[in-house]
Amino acid sequence: MATICVIGTGYVGLVTGTCLADLGHTVTCVDIAEEKIEQLQRGIVPVHEPGLTNLVQHNLYAGRLHFTTSYSEGLQNSNFIFIAVNTPTAVHHGRADMRYVESALHCIARELDHDAIIINKSTMPVGSGDAVIRFICDWLVHSQVSFAVVSNPEFLREGSAVQDFFHPDRIVLGSSDQLAAYQVAELYLPLRAPFVVTDMRTAEMIKYASNAFLATKISFINEIAQICTHVGADVKEVAAGMGYDKRIGRAFLDAGLGYGGSCFLKDMKALASTAEEAGVHPRLLHAIMETNHQQRRIAISMLTSQLETLRDRTIGILGLAFKPNTDDMRDAPSIDIIRWLTLQEARVRIYDPVALTTARTALERKGVCLDLVTFCETASEVAVEADAVVLVTEWDEFRSLDMSQMCKSMRYPLFIDGRNFYDVAEMERSGFIYRGIGRGTGSMSALSSLWKSIKTLETAQRTMSAEERESAPPASA
Ligand code: NAD
Repeated sequence: MATICVIGTGYVGLVTGTCLADLGHTVTCVDIAEEKIEQLQRGIVPVHEPGLTNLVQHNLYAGRLHFTTSYSEGLQNSNFIFIAVNTPTAVHHGRADMRYVESALHCIARELDHDAIIINKSTMPVGSGDAVIRFICDWLVHSQVSFAVVSNPEFLREGSAVQDFFHPDRIVLGSSDQLAAYQVAELYLPLRAPFVVTDMRTAEMIKYASNAFLATKISFINEIAQICTHVGADVKEVAAGMGYDKRIGRAFLDAGLGYGGSCFLKDMKALASTAEEAGVHPRLLHAIMETNHQQRRIAISMLTSQLETLRDRTIGILGLAFKPNTDDMRDAPSIDIIRWLTLQEARVRIYDPVALTTARTALERKGVCLDLVTFCETASEVAVEADAVVLVTEWDEFRSLDMSQMCKSMRYPLFIDGRNFYDVAEMERSGFIYRGIGRGTGSMSALSSLWKSIKTLETAQRTMSAEERESAPPASA
């Protein structure tokens, strides 16, 4: 079993380190955030990620998992060093901000006194692997040390990160040092996943191209949803009908208020920036980002068209995190929506099962006037005396809400379903004026009324023929 150091204990680093420890390796996770490390040393996981707390505690107490703020402690005896620090968008030109990576490399180069493989798990622009080699060569204090660099991009999804670690679709390894790539592959062997072993630039590009493709699917179906709205088709059924085609697939064809989170937007910007620097104008990438940005505004235009003004209206917001099963508020559509509402002097009542605390910080950072925002303790509270409710994040627990009761507690029964989560007919039966994304007048409602007319016609025909039979003169012998 290997001795591993993971630099950065965010969503990726903490999950990677913990799961590698669970595979039997000895892992030390290093982070500069002292409070976070202190919590983790006591088995407290600072983020909401299903299954992670149990796994951290189990491996911590088994003595395979350690947390520290000290690089020298973390690197001691480690033959594999994973870099999993954040690579946010830089201030200029949408580039990835590599300051955190560079600072980690500085510390590694200062402390490393034995041979090791450095593994780039953070999402880094194409060409970063070569830059990492140059940085380490330039800064290495113990010059006798030899090292290799392997790009190993991460594809886990927040909300199912532990599950994704143990059941990856593929593991991508890119390096100019094939032996190093195969040594990293050995760490993952128990996962029985397909390996893609390639050069560093290709591995880095696989990550960006994958995220760009997923973002494309989302923006594509959102544009189809817009067309559906205008032509009276139902995008949910369109997506279902398309998804049967194996060449297309059903995943990531859910129309809604667009994508958020820490990755898609920043990776799209970084890829576009890489393209521009390479002399390629990425028209499609820009269009995808533009469509996604507009998508959030749809909630506001739907509210305005129904309520005329938002001033002094009360709007309930169901779900705040950028997606269900996480407390991550990075680039969550809810932040923009709440900000736009408060800028128009609407009062906002908000609820999320786990993200209320992170939401407060995120809203404060965006300068939202919190005097206009009420943090509710239950989902149904957002509807009390509200003029509309908007579903922004589709948490499973919202399926079991008593919708009739919620509707009765509202001042005006408008429900904007930003994720097409609910059944149109059921919501209308509960008393709501229901508006989904791209659900038009609804082929389903058209179909069900057509179906009802056919049934009525059949019943009428049966009744008529029975009456006719009764009133008909007896056949003469
Ligand atoms: P994060 O912001 O949650 O965590 C980053 C951690 O790194 C923080 O705890 C921070 O304190 C620490 N850190 C920063 N500089 C450091 C340094 N010099 N030394 C030690 N620790 C340092 O980030 P994340 O969401 O885990 O993402 C990490 C990387 O993985 C990013 O490049 C991201 O694009 C990529 N990625 C993220 C996801 C995801 O779903 N979050 C999925 C795939 C890939």
